[in-house]
Amino acid sequence: MATKELKNFAVLPNESKGRLHKETQSNYRNEFQRDRDRIIHCSAFRRLEYKTQVFVNHEGDMFRTRLTHSIEVSQIGRTIARALNVNEDLTEAICLAHDLGHTPFGHAGQDALNKCMRDFGGFEHNLQSLRIVDILEQRYLDFPGLNLTFETREGILKHCSKKNALKLGELGERFLNNNQPSLEAQIANVADEIAYNNHDIDDGLRAGLLSFEILNESDFFLEQYEMVCEKCKELNQRQIRHEVVRNMINYIVSDLIETSKIIIDECKPNNVNSVRNSEKLLIKMSLLVEKKHKDLKFLLRKKLYQHEQVNLMTKKAKETVTYLFKTYMKKPELLTNELQRKIKLYDKKQHEQKKARMIADYIAGMTDRFALSECDRIT
Ligand code: MG
Repeated sequence: MATKELKNFAVLPNESKGRLHKETQSNYRNEFQRDRDRIIHCSAFRRLEYKTQVFVNHEGDMFRTRLTHSIEVSQIGRTIARALNVNEDLTEAICLAHDLGHTPFGHAGQDALNKCMRDFGGFEHNLQSLRIVDILEQRYLDFPGLNLTFETREGILKHCSKKNALKLGELGERFLNNNQPSLEAQIANVADEIAYNNHDIDDGLRAGLLSFEILNESDFFLEQYEMVCEKCKELNQRQIRHEVVRNMINYIVSDLIETSKIIIDECKPNNVNSVRNSEKLLIKMSLLVEKKHKDLKFLLRKKLYQHEQVNLMTKKAKETVTYLFKTYMKKPELLTNELQRKIKLYDKKQHEQKKARMIADYIAGMTDRFALSECDRIT
């Protein structure tokens, strides 16, 4: 989309607050296209293919992984951004990067790693995504990380404690002042929620952990389900599943776009700074649809995320991550040569703290299957 078509409250590439390390401009791509391309080419992005969303990757080839999830989030995000005439490239970059910091085994892995890191500053996947793009990726001669623009980094940092925000300079300010991020970042955030609610229904049904009967406890699902069955009586179960999920996404996204248009019209932000200074989020669903969406999320939490089969996986995941962390801490000689060399460079005072962070970075970067095979190797 040409820049001239964007609304004045969109983030414009030539008005970016810039990168941590200064660079020359590209002849062919704007700054946010470059950010997106750097994310696609980085190794943390490729590893998302073998990281769990809800179902462990090796449970089947048909389920979502963090990679396919990120692509679905970006599809939904781009649709919303384009409909609202804000920056589609920036939205896409944020969506593709939003889960880079996830540990193996989804939230179970992150909870376990956070617990292991309790005495060393904790672990938070959102902050880890930022760490990856700012420091951990090593691809360029002139700087560490991917050197992304302020606006993409702003979107990646979805939430942050005040304590951590204080260490982040301008990027952390909004968490201290209770300000909002750009509309593009707000869109990426909601697109994430819409994507996982709906694909978890699809995957949950496919895995046999959910059924139409269970999901019909949600008024929203029931309403869409009945509409689909009414429209076509000859559909098989799989077609019904896809049709209902598709209709639900469409329903929520349409409501989100129309409601956000009204809110933006009322608030009349005249540039991205008035979006940031606004007291409330401007990208929102209507109250009615928000409630439907939340009810469904609640049902999924009860019936899917706490399903005994998922709980079993969660338990194993926590044990694996905890075992890896504790073993590496005790026996750093089991780490890669490169990590061992780096650890030896720290002086005594910083040693344990730095070692723990380095091990956390290493474990967080693992895919599910690598974490399992590492566990076997070091046992
Ligand atoms: Mg996500």
